[in-house]
Formats: sequence, structure tokens, C-alpha cells
Amino acid sequence: MAQKKIPARQCIGCMTSRPKKELVRVVRAPSGEISIDPVGKKPGRGAYLCPDAACLAKAKKKKALERCFEQPVPAEVYDALARQLAAVEQEAAQDGKE
Ligand SMILES: [Zn+2]
Repeated sequence: MAQKKIPARQCIGCMTSRPKKELVRVVRAPSGEISIDPVGKKPGRGAYLCPDAACLAKAKKKKALERCFEQPVPAEVYDALARQLAAVEQEAAQDGKE
């Protein structure tokens, strides 16, 4: 019996496991730059977040990205991620309307 496996990832904010495509990938590029990767294809080490600002806030509070990427993550990076996450959320909302 072949069971179709859905790749699941854990949100670094709320620690809930969800199908990969329901999460937003945060990627640390080889250059050390951290950004949201809406397509999920950027090279580098990835972490996953729900498309929810609250989860990013939780991740910030417990320094989840620092732990995941093993490097300091300045507040500006979290701010930039929050903006990018909001854009992703907005896009998703627009897609839903069509
Ligand atoms: Zn979450």
C-alpha cells in the first residue's frame, strides 16, 4: 500500500507541524543574509514559520532563528522578516479572492 506522504515541517514559532506548503520558508543564504523565501527555492539553510506575524514574534522572543541558523539575528532582520511576511500574507489573501 503506497501512502502519499506530505512533507511536514515545524514552525519555529509555535512548534506546530504543518504541511510544508502551508509554511513560509526563512532562508539564510551562504552570505549570511536572512530573508523570507516565498518560492522555497533559495539556496541556504531553511527554517519554517506559519504565515503569521504572531509566530514570528514568538520565534523572536525565544531566539529560534538564532538557534536554527547558529548566528546572531539582529532586530532589524526580524523587522524585515515581519514586513516580508506581511507581504506574503497579503498575497495569499488576494489569491484567495480570485
Ligand atoms: Zn506557527
